[in-house]
Amino acid sequence: MTLVIAMDGPSGSGKSSVSKGVARALGLRYLDTGAMYRAVTWWMLREGVKVEDPAAVAARAGEPDLRCGTDPDDPAISVGDTDVSRPIRTPEVTGAVSAVAAVPEVRERLVALQREIIGIGGIVVEGRDIGTVVAPDAPVKIYLTASPEVRARRRSKELSGATVSATQADMARRDRLDSTRKADPLTRAADAVEVDTTSLALPEVISEIVQIAKGADAGASVREALSSEERP
Ligand code: C5P
Repeated sequence: MTLVIAMDGPSGSGKSSVSKGVARALGLRYLDTGAMYRAVTWWMLREGVKVEDPAAVAARAGEPDLRCGTDPDDPAISVGDTDVSRPIRTPEVTGAVSAVAAVPEVRERLVALQREIIGIGGIVVEGRDIGTVVAPDAPVKIYLTASPEVRARRRSKELSGATVSATQADMARRDRLDSTRKADPLTRAADAVEVDTTSLALPEVISEIVQIAKGADAGASVREALSSEERP
């Protein structure tokens, strides 16, 4: 497998900006798995599925036709022919996504799709369960964190009109749902490197992770060279 960088962590930890920056710096593809859970949620809401009813969500989990781009400069996402990159960021979708993402049938389908897109690698993948479930063999695993205040401040800047305190309360609710659900909860992989972004500027975080990735890649090439020398 060529380089796969698994980037996990709670919302507002800086995952998206960091993942895109690292992908650009290293010439890798980029996959936002949160956008995939949001797109399924958008579709369920449009179809009038009761998102708080896991059986209703499970029954329709196989239907939405997701198409995900992997260009860090244009991470397009559509359901069928509809571009949903903007509607998946509405408060309505954000409020419902954790319930939909907790349904095992939804996760099973999206994890399979994510593995298909990862393929032989060359990609930065951001989410909650990438290092633990989707790509447990990823050579680089990062777990991004930041203080709750800083995470809320970053998120409320992205969501126009949301106050910091309301955003912090909503994030705490989603964190709780995401970390306590039965299927693939948000947890740090035992072998992930934790990077606390509270007091780091974005370029600093990107360059730290680029260094970690280069080290891992160099290690892999050396190991490959050594094992081919050993071959008869
Ligand atoms: O990263 P983002 O905030 O866009 O993710 C939206 C939601 O999707 C998360 O709160 C979580 O419920 C779900 N998610 C997940 N597993 C992932 C990525 C996101 O359950 N790998």
